[in-house]
Amino acid sequence: MHSTDSVELLARYARVSADKTFLPDEGISVARVTDATRPDAEALGAAGKPPDAVRRFTHDDAVAELRTLGAEWELGAAASAWVAGLWSASWAWRPALTGVLLARELPEHDAVPYRTSSTCRVCGTDAKPALAPTDAWYRRHTGGVPIDGDVPGYVLALEELSGRPRPVPSEYDRWVLRAVLTVLRTLPADKRYSAARAELKRLRLLDTTAVHAYGSVLEELALVGVVATAEHPGLVERWSDYVERDQRPNERVEVQAPLAWWQSSDGLREDVVREVFADFDTSEVDLDQRPTPDPKPGATIVAATAKRARALAKQSATKVPRSAGTGPASVGDVYAMRVSADRWVTLYVWSVDSSGARAYAEVEFLAGLFPEVPGPTELSDRVQPRFDGRWRYRAHSLEKAPNTRRVTQGRPAPAGDGPPPDRSPSGNAKDLRSLAAACFRELR
Ligand SMILES: [Zn+2]
Repeated sequence: MHSTDSVELLARYARVSADKTFLPDEGISVARVTDATRPDAEALGAAGKPPDAVRRFTHDDAVAELRTLGAEWELGAAASAWVAGLWSASWAWRPALTGVLLARELPEHDAVPYRTSSTCRVCGTDAKPALAPTDAWYRRHTGGVPIDGDVPGYVLALEELSGRPRPVPSEYDRWVLRAVLTVLRTLPADKRYSAARAELKRLRLLDTTAVHAYGSVLEELALVGVVATAEHPGLVERWSDYVERDQRPNERVEVQAPLAWWQSSDGLREDVVREVFADFDTSEVDLDQRPTPDPKPGATIVAATAKRARALAKQSATKVPRSAGTGPASVGDVYAMRVSADRWVTLYVWSVDSSGARAYAEVEFLAGLFPEVPGPTELSDRVQPRFDGRWRYRAHSLEKAPNTRRVTQGRPAPAGDGPPPDRSPSGNAKDLRSLAAACFRELR
């Protein structure tokens, strides 16, 4: 994966996936490609990453494929890829370590479903799992490894790495490994994973401020068995069935075992550290004596992707024209509001009540959905009723609602079937974005 290409593709996927659609048959969401994001989708498709792709497995295929893919790796090579994936290489290299251990320890077995679901009690895999492979790819590069030992998720992760030249950990990557271990060894007593995660983030040991990314590093080290206890060991020591890993000390704990049960007073499983990171110096470092990161902060794949995604989002945003006219909302105004990536609805202002602490504009949707902000000549002269008849809303803060622009002023009153409603609910104008679905069947 050439890093410049992958940054561009990842950022384009971020733009496409800002709009998602749920597939009820598969039980997953995939990116919804719109006219605005079709060029991004085509670029992703040409690179083998269609943003709305679905990959279906069966339990047995996923288990068999993971075992095969894991056999391509020695533990030491997987540990090296993990260390490189802390900083200099993409984070997508880190699933090598947990994935290879999962593949190695995963017993051959038939699915043993829970009584109330089709999830397997042994490995946590659904009977017929469906995954969004492009979304999973994006998450591995920008978030962390597939969580909870997700078997088909690791199949996708190891497939991506298969046959590629493996990264060599830099001096800085090696320092980050030691720094992570140092933090975990020197936490005050009786701290749990959330305190460890906060400390890793405070030290900015990854090139991100996203707290979940630091949580992923901890979950990875736990699944391996470094951040584990004797009663709840990780994969290096032994296999644990999913049903066992899914037990937690109390319901407030979000993470699975081993991390769920770990406290700083338990220390690290130093024998596991030595076994997994045999090729590395794992002694403590002075956290105040940080070597120069290479690449520089902001230039890693994860940070460059975030930066590029922000630039692309800005490009999209500047296509929206400024509001027409000046001053607060007034009778005869028409506002356009973006309700999804490529859909705008329009609102007619019937009256404005400025008697209270803030002004309320009584609005009614006009007929028509638009791919971008419509011009005044495109507006309908008819209102759009709700499923049960005409509907209006008393909106405050209409001028400040996100993705909302005034299209025109002084518009004549639109026509509608039946009388206007006797009463109108009131609230913040931004809620009209979700309320629109009751009036426009196409938005449901
Ligand atoms: Zn299973």
